[in-house]
Amino acid sequence: MKNINLIVGAGLSGAALARRLADLGEKVAIIDRLPHVAGSAFDYKDENGITVHKYGSHIFHASNAEVWRFVRRFADFNAYMHRVLALIDGTEAFIPFNLNTIKKVFPASLAERLEKKLLEIFPYNSRIPICEFQKQNDPDLKFLAEYIYEKVFLEYTKKQWGLDSVDSGVTARVPVVIGTDCRYFRDAYQGIPLKGYTNLVENMLDSKNIEVRPGEDFGGVGECAKYKAVYHTGSIDEFFGYKFGVLPYRSLRFEHRSLDMEYFQKNSVVNYPCNYDFTRIHEFKYYLNEKSARTSVMFEYPQSFEPGKNDRYYPIQSDENRALHAKYLGEAEKIGNLRFFGRLGDYKYYDMDKAVERALTLKL
Ligand code: UDP
Repeated sequence: MKNINLIVGAGLSGAALARRLADLGEKVAIIDRLPHVAGSAFDYKDENGITVHKYGSHIFHASNAEVWRFVRRFADFNAYMHRVLALIDGTEAFIPFNLNTIKKVFPASLAERLEKKLLEIFPYNSRIPICEFQKQNDPDLKFLAEYIYEKVFLEYTKKQWGLDSVDSGVTARVPVVIGTDCRYFRDAYQGIPLKGYTNLVENMLDSKNIEVRPGEDFGGVGECAKYKAVYHTGSIDEFFGYKFGVLPYRSLRFEHRSLDMEYFQKNSVVNYPCNYDFTRIHEFKYYLNEKSARTSVMFEYPQSFEPGKNDRYYPIQSDENRALHAKYLGEAEKIGNLRFFGRLGDYKYYDMDKAVERALTLKL
């Protein structure tokens, strides 16, 4: 087996690296403890004929043309551009908070005044992270910044992360927009694969040089010597038996429901920053414009991660946690032919495009 590269984890990161190696003529085996490929991008057609994203909505968006070209080899995409509604003071409005949102939630005279002041200070169409936006001196804009922080970020972040505040890089994912572009992402390339993500990953792995083995766990350090190289996309603390402590993650609980109505809500995702215990409701038929008399929705509840009890979704970004991760990386380096990468392996909050980019640029 010394000429075989082993990849642990058949999510997008693992699959993209497998294909990259296979295209270079390398032999690859890819295993996953789950009974399927595609990791947390896994989707399936349910009894309503709707493509359900089992682990929450996945929207592909990329600015890197190389990444887009790569994924397009394995799937055709539609031109879906993601928009997110949020319930703010009982009104559904698009976030990121933008000039349209201001008109939707405030009386016309106040909205007009705020818009005028914003356009005097910020370049049109700029995207300002909330922590920057809060540095206002004008009383109207101070009020606006506090309003957005309180109604969109504060309670959502408490629910999502179980913390009063998170790394500013995390909230910067949802900036304040000084314009009317209410799309969630600005990337040049966006869409949903027409036959789903599982199909995309299956196609990525469809090569004579790749052997796919779902439902198989990796044996541990002792197994590494059997392979030319081991590329691991799992959590590094678990791999080393938590010897330096547990790397903290945030987990999720999903409640899937099949409903006897054509549509449940007006948009694919509706966020509930200040109400209920769930953070958002996903309605999947919007992604591929699937027609059905019934609909399939999913309520998303954040929860703390407990090893062995639930799954890891979000690495919790902090200097302390990054230092713990680095300590484990030091252990991995001692093994020589073992590399960690991917959202769990790198302990980074990658979107799908960044996961693919990392796999395509990883130093072999
Ligand atoms: N966020 C928020 N309110 C929202 C949406 C997002 O406070 O209505 C914050 C929250 O801290 C969240 C982060 O912005 O974790 C990133 O949100 P995003 O929608 O990018 O998260 P993902 O879809 O990756 O879960």
